Amino acid sequence: MDALLSHLDGRALVVTFPPDVRWLTGFTGSNALVIVTAAGAVHLVTDGRYTTQAQAEVQDATVHIADGSLIEHAAAHDLLPDGPVVVQADRLSVAQLERLQEQQPAAMWQPERGVLQALVARKRADEVEKLRAAQAITDAVFEHLCDWLRPGQTEQEVAAEIVYQHLRRGAERMAFDPIVASGPNGALPHARPTSRRLQAGDVVVIDMGGVRAGYASDMTRTVAIGAPAPAVRTVYDVVLAAQEAALQAAVGGIASDALDAAARSVIEDAGHGEAFPHSLGHGIGLQTHEWPRVSHRSSEPLPTGAVITIEPGIYRPDRFGVRIEDMIHLTPEGHDNLTASPKDLIVIS
Ligand code: ZN
Ligand code: ZN
Repeated sequence: MDALLSHLDGRALVVTFPPDVRWLTGFTGSNALVIVTAAGAVHLVTDGRYTTQAQAEVQDATVHIADGSLIEHAAAHDLLPDGPVVVQADRLSVAQLERLQEQQPAAMWQPERGVLQALVARKRADEVEKLRAAQAITDAVFEHLCDWLRPGQTEQEVAAEIVYQHLRRGAERMAFDPIVASGPNGALPHARPTSRRLQAGDVVVIDMGGVRAGYASDMTRTVAIGAPAPAVRTVYDVVLAAQEAALQAAVGGIASDALDAAARSVIEDAGHGEAFPHSLGHGIGLQTHEWPRVSHRSSEPLPTGAVITIEPGIYRPDRFGVRIEDMIHLTPEGHDNLTASPKDLIVIS
């Protein structure tokens, strides 16, 4: 809260974006308005569906239950401050901002982008442990898959098994729809599972993650069905070397583009530069994708304490793709890898 108040510098803050509401107050409902006053008082306004849940979850905030509109309730009970109030320019709709302005014309509404992102990025120890617990489920699912996968299964069957095994092992839900991309489908970085059957000679890109205690996991492994072709093994080794180069370089405070370059230069030097069309990774926490991005298009430092993914890939159109993704916690000395799954090329027979 001290870091937030010093960022706000005498201004109040209004937040409606659910992951940020949760981060500020612990409340997990889908409809809430949080007001942080310049003095540091925190009000949470929600509706009657959430009376019991708000009492159980909310810490260090005063709970208000609105009959109808949260904004009108806040205005009617003098919760919306006069003077400068920061709102999340990248989270609020134009209509929501107009309603705030109508309800509290005495406030100086100040839309600002990325208000909380740098604070949310620096994970507390308990948040790192929740991310580790989420990833431990995904690691266990991967171990299961290595025994369970067989030629002849469709990508959709594998995706269904991934969802089922995450939920059985304690995930609340999936962090995102699993990617199971076999053979030529693997050349699409965001492929959707299809009815294509796994067959000997395929490599299969499996990208999956679950949510535990609100926090997301995200891991990619690429496995071979039967003995891989030499070209596949060569590409796999380049992606793995790129990922390991980035892990070697990862440390709190490193510039985003410098970390991206650590991996990208390995792929470029091997002659596959154009086959790696996406950024190296992204922040992860209550959201699967959050600030900071790890990209050659950003020179911002990656803060110590952030949890980010490192996920280089090489995509050979119409042939196959390889991606390897871990989640790491950036520390002052380097990083702590939250992902335990092996990274040698696993061959399913
Ligand atoms: Zn992923
Ligand atoms: Zn990712």
